[in-house]
Amino acid sequence: MFYLVVFGPPGAGKGTQSDKIIEQYGFAHISTGDVFRVNMKEGTELGKLAKKYIDEGQLVPDEVTINMLKDQVAKYPEAKGIILDGFPRTVAQAEALDSILGEDDQQVNLVLKLEVTEEEVRSRIEERRKTSGRADDEAETVERRINEYFKKTVQVLPYYQAQGKVVAVNGIGDIDTIYAQVSEAIDVKL
Ligand code: AMP
Repeated sequence: MFYLVVFGPPGAGKGTQSDKIIEQYGFAHISTGDVFRVNMKEGTELGKLAKKYIDEGQLVPDEVTINMLKDQVAKYPEAKGIILDGFPRTVAQAEALDSILGEDDQQVNLVLKLEVTEEEVRSRIEERRKTSGRADDEAETVERRINEYFKKTVQVLPYYQAQGKVVAVNGIGDIDTIYAQVSEAIDVKL
């Protein structure tokens, strides 16, 4: 099974590129943000717990997120590949992922880093806010989410760089041009 981490700040285009990967490669897709949002909508215990953090633009605690991710990964035993979109966001999550996958002699095969500047991210989220209806797309919360990425989440990169797994792609420009680089990076490792 091919495990692909799609990495980048909020608004980098992780969802957009994931959709194109799904279409071409038929991989399963786990977006931890989407799973939290579904749970919030359904009012589950997990949703209630996550809501406090998400509405504030903070990361949901590692223990909660890791347990949820483990359950999600177990849903796709037959998949050709799994896209992890929005996970891991901390080094503790990256370590936990290694041990979860390691139990089945699997590993992360590729970390695709979508490179987008803070300025670009701000203007994209501002655009998205008009239609997304996401409470956490409000200005103050967005700032916190951007900070979480540029202060905390980027620390995950050295962890994977040390394993030679990171491929950086310029995330600014035409969607198909970006995707051409994305699919090339996948094909090299597939
Ligand atoms: P996203 O849709 O990926 O931008 O995620 C929306 C929100 O869900 C984030 O701002 C976090 O509050 C929470 N979240 C999603 N993924 C994670 C994760 N891997 N670790 C902690 N919190 C997460």
